[in-house]
Amino acid sequence: MAFSPLLQQLITSLRCLPGVGPKTAQRMALHLLERDRDSARQLAAAMLDAVERVGECSRCRTLSEEPVCEICADESRDHSIICVLESPVDLMVIEQTGGFQGVYFVLKGHLSPIDGVGPDDLGISQLIDRVEQGGVSELILATNPTVEGEATAHYIAAQLNHCDVRISRIAHGVPVGGELEYVDGGTLAHAMAGRRSLRSES
Ligand code: ZN
Repeated sequence: MAFSPLLQQLITSLRCLPGVGPKTAQRMALHLLERDRDSARQLAAAMLDAVERVGECSRCRTLSEEPVCEICADESRDHSIICVLESPVDLMVIEQTGGFQGVYFVLKGHLSPIDGVGPDDLGISQLIDRVEQGGVSELILATNPTVEGEATAHYIAAQLNHCDVRISRIAHGVPVGGELEYVDGGTLAHAMAGRRSLRSES
Protein backbone atom coordinates (compact mmCIF):
# COMPACT_ATOMS: atom_id res chain seq x y z
CA MET A 1 0.00 0.00 0.00
CA ALA A 2 1.30 3.42 -0.92
CA PHE A 3 0.93 6.19 1.63
CA SER A 4 -0.24 9.67 0.69
CA PRO A 5 2.61 12.08 -0.06
CA LEU A 6 2.34 13.98 3.26
CA LEU A 7 2.15 10.79 5.28
CA GLN A 8 5.12 9.39 3.41
CA GLN A 9 7.00 12.62 4.11
CA LEU A 10 6.26 12.26 7.85
CA ILE A 11 7.43 8.63 7.86
CA THR A 12 10.63 9.53 6.02
CA SER A 13 11.28 12.42 8.43
CA LEU A 14 10.81 10.25 11.52
CA ARG A 15 13.56 7.97 10.28
CA CYS A 16 16.16 10.62 11.12
CA LEU A 17 15.76 9.54 14.76
CA PRO A 18 18.31 7.03 16.09
CA GLY A 19 17.03 3.45 16.19
CA VAL A 20 13.94 4.20 14.08
CA GLY A 21 13.61 1.92 11.06
CA PRO A 22 10.88 1.95 8.37
CA LYS A 23 8.36 -0.14 10.38
CA THR A 24 8.75 1.89 13.56
CA ALA A 25 8.48 5.14 11.61
CA GLN A 26 5.21 3.97 10.04
CA ARG A 27 3.83 2.97 13.42
CA MET A 28 4.79 6.32 14.96
CA ALA A 29 3.31 8.34 12.10
CA LEU A 30 0.01 6.43 12.15
CA HIS A 31 -0.20 6.68 15.94
CA LEU A 32 0.30 10.45 15.84
CA LEU A 33 -2.29 10.98 13.09
CA GLU A 34 -4.92 8.49 14.18
CA ARG A 35 -4.78 8.70 17.94
CA ASP A 36 -2.88 11.67 19.20
CA ARG A 37 -2.93 14.77 17.02
CA ASP A 38 -2.60 17.11 20.04
CA SER A 39 0.65 15.44 21.05
CA ALA A 40 1.81 15.59 17.45
CA ARG A 41 1.22 19.36 17.42
CA GLN A 42 3.09 19.75 20.73
CA LEU A 43 5.94 17.61 19.43
CA ALA A 44 6.24 19.68 16.27
CA ALA A 45 6.18 22.95 18.22
CA ALA A 46 8.69 21.73 20.83
CA MET A 47 11.02 20.49 18.11
CA LEU A 48 10.88 23.78 16.24
CA ASP A 49 11.44 25.82 19.44
CA ALA A 50 14.40 23.68 20.45
CA VAL A 51 16.00 23.71 17.02
CA GLU A 52 15.66 27.48 16.71
CA ARG A 53 16.56 28.52 20.26
CA VAL A 54 18.94 25.98 21.77
CA GLY A 55 22.53 26.90 21.05
CA GLU A 56 25.66 26.18 22.99
CA CYS A 57 27.12 27.59 26.22
CA SER A 58 30.05 29.87 25.43
CA ARG A 59 32.02 28.46 28.38
CA CYS A 60 31.41 24.70 28.35
CA ARG A 61 29.87 24.09 24.90
CA THR A 62 26.93 22.12 26.26
CA LEU A 63 23.46 22.71 24.81
CA SER A 64 21.92 25.86 26.24
CA GLU A 65 19.45 28.53 25.18
CA GLU A 66 21.33 31.09 27.29
CA PRO A 67 24.80 32.37 26.29
CA VAL A 68 26.11 30.85 29.56
CA CYS A 69 24.43 27.68 30.84
CA GLU A 70 22.94 27.22 34.30
CA ILE A 71 25.89 25.15 35.56
CA CYS A 72 28.56 27.61 34.36
CA ALA A 73 26.57 30.50 35.85
CA ASP A 74 26.24 28.76 39.24
CA GLU A 75 28.65 30.46 41.65
CA SER A 76 28.15 27.77 44.28
CA ARG A 77 29.90 25.18 42.08
CA ASP A 78 33.65 24.61 42.13
CA HIS A 79 34.89 26.30 38.96
CA SER A 80 38.47 25.12 39.61
CA ILE A 81 37.57 21.52 38.71
CA ILE A 82 36.60 20.90 35.09
CA CYS A 83 35.25 17.58 33.92
CA VAL A 84 35.84 17.05 30.19
CA LEU A 85 33.19 15.00 28.38
CA GLU A 86 32.38 13.83 24.89
CA SER A 87 28.69 14.72 24.83
CA PRO A 88 25.93 16.71 26.58
CA VAL A 89 24.26 13.36 27.40
CA ASP A 90 27.33 12.39 29.47
CA LEU A 91 26.96 15.70 31.34
CA MET A 92 23.34 14.89 32.17
CA VAL A 93 24.30 11.40 33.35
CA ILE A 94 26.97 12.76 35.73
CA GLU A 95 24.65 15.52 36.97
CA GLN A 96 22.04 12.87 37.80
CA THR A 97 24.52 11.12 40.13
CA GLY A 98 24.60 14.38 42.13
CA GLY A 99 28.16 13.60 43.21
CA PHE A 100 30.09 16.15 41.16
CA GLN A 101 30.25 19.78 42.20
CA GLY A 102 32.73 21.06 39.62
CA VAL A 103 31.96 22.35 36.14
CA TYR A 104 32.18 20.78 32.69
CA PHE A 105 33.62 21.14 29.23
CA VAL A 106 31.85 19.28 26.43
CA LEU A 107 33.95 18.31 23.42
CA LYS A 108 30.97 17.10 21.36
CA GLY A 109 32.91 14.18 19.93
CA HIS A 110 36.38 12.71 20.06
CA LEU A 111 39.48 12.95 17.92
CA SER A 112 38.96 10.87 14.81
CA PRO A 113 41.37 11.65 11.96
CA ILE A 114 39.61 9.10 9.73
CA ASP A 115 36.37 11.14 9.98
CA GLY A 116 38.23 14.43 9.72
CA VAL A 117 37.57 15.38 13.36
CA GLY A 118 40.51 17.32 14.73
CA PRO A 119 41.22 19.38 17.89
CA ASP A 120 39.59 22.51 16.40
CA ASP A 121 36.26 20.70 15.99
CA LEU A 122 36.30 19.77 19.67
CA GLY A 123 37.08 23.23 21.04
CA ILE A 124 40.30 21.94 22.58
CA SER A 125 42.11 25.27 22.16
CA GLN A 126 39.24 26.96 24.04
CA LEU A 127 39.75 24.47 26.88
CA ILE A 128 43.53 25.01 26.91
CA ASP A 129 43.01 28.82 26.96
CA ARG A 130 40.74 28.48 29.93
CA VAL A 131 43.29 26.43 31.87
CA GLU A 132 46.11 28.82 30.89
CA GLN A 133 44.10 31.78 32.20
CA GLY A 134 44.48 30.23 35.66
CA GLY A 135 42.03 29.38 38.41
CA VAL A 136 41.77 25.73 37.32
CA SER A 137 43.30 23.21 39.72
CA GLU A 138 42.12 19.97 38.17
CA LEU A 139 40.95 18.62 34.85
CA ILE A 140 39.07 15.31 34.95
CA LEU A 141 39.23 13.69 31.53
CA ALA A 142 36.00 11.68 31.36
CA THR A 143 35.98 10.88 27.67
CA ASN A 144 34.62 7.42 26.84
CA PRO A 145 36.95 4.46 27.54
CA THR A 146 37.16 3.65 23.84
CA VAL A 147 40.30 3.86 21.70
CA GLU A 148 39.26 7.32 20.41
CA GLY A 149 38.22 8.54 23.87
CA GLU A 150 41.57 7.48 25.35
CA ALA A 151 43.48 9.08 22.47
CA THR A 152 41.53 12.32 22.97
CA ALA A 153 42.28 12.32 26.73
CA HIS A 154 45.99 11.76 26.12
CA TYR A 155 46.07 14.48 23.49
CA ILE A 156 44.51 17.02 25.88
CA ALA A 157 46.88 15.98 28.68
CA ALA A 158 49.87 16.43 26.36
CA GLN A 159 48.70 19.93 25.36
CA LEU A 160 48.71 20.92 29.03
CA ASN A 161 52.18 19.68 29.90
CA HIS A 162 53.31 23.24 30.55
CA CYS A 163 50.44 24.04 32.93
CA ASP A 164 50.44 23.49 36.66
CA VAL A 165 47.15 21.62 36.80
CA ARG A 166 46.25 18.17 38.10
CA ILE A 167 45.06 16.00 35.23
CA SER A 168 43.13 12.86 35.99
CA ARG A 169 41.28 10.23 34.02
CA ILE A 170 38.19 8.38 35.19
CA ALA A 171 39.18 4.81 35.86
CA HIS A 172 37.56 1.56 36.99
CA GLY A 173 33.82 1.12 36.97
CA VAL A 174 33.18 2.05 33.37
CA PRO A 175 33.42 -1.06 31.16
CA VAL A 176 36.18 -1.07 28.57
CA GLY A 177 34.77 -0.27 25.14
CA GLY A 178 31.61 1.12 26.73
CA GLU A 179 29.99 4.52 26.47
CA LEU A 180 29.16 6.75 29.42
CA GLU A 181 25.62 7.22 28.21
CA TYR A 182 24.81 3.58 29.02
CA VAL A 183 26.46 3.32 32.45
CA ASP A 184 24.30 3.44 35.58
CA GLY A 185 24.73 6.29 38.07
CA GLY A 186 26.35 4.20 40.83
CA THR A 187 29.00 2.78 38.51
CA LEU A 188 29.73 6.20 37.13
CA ALA A 189 30.01 7.76 40.61
CA HIS A 190 32.52 4.99 41.45
CA ALA A 191 34.48 5.70 38.30
CA MET A 192 34.62 9.41 39.14
CA ALA A 193 35.85 8.64 42.68
CA GLY A 194 38.52 6.25 41.36
CA ARG A 195 39.94 8.55 38.68
CA ARG A 196 43.68 8.39 38.17
CA SER A 197 46.31 10.90 37.10
CA LEU A 198 47.58 10.83 33.55
CA ARG A 199 50.81 12.46 34.69
CA SER A 200 53.53 11.10 36.94
CA GLU A 201 52.99 13.03 40.19
CA SER A 202 56.05 14.94 41.35
ZN1 ZN B 1 28.18 25.99 30.42
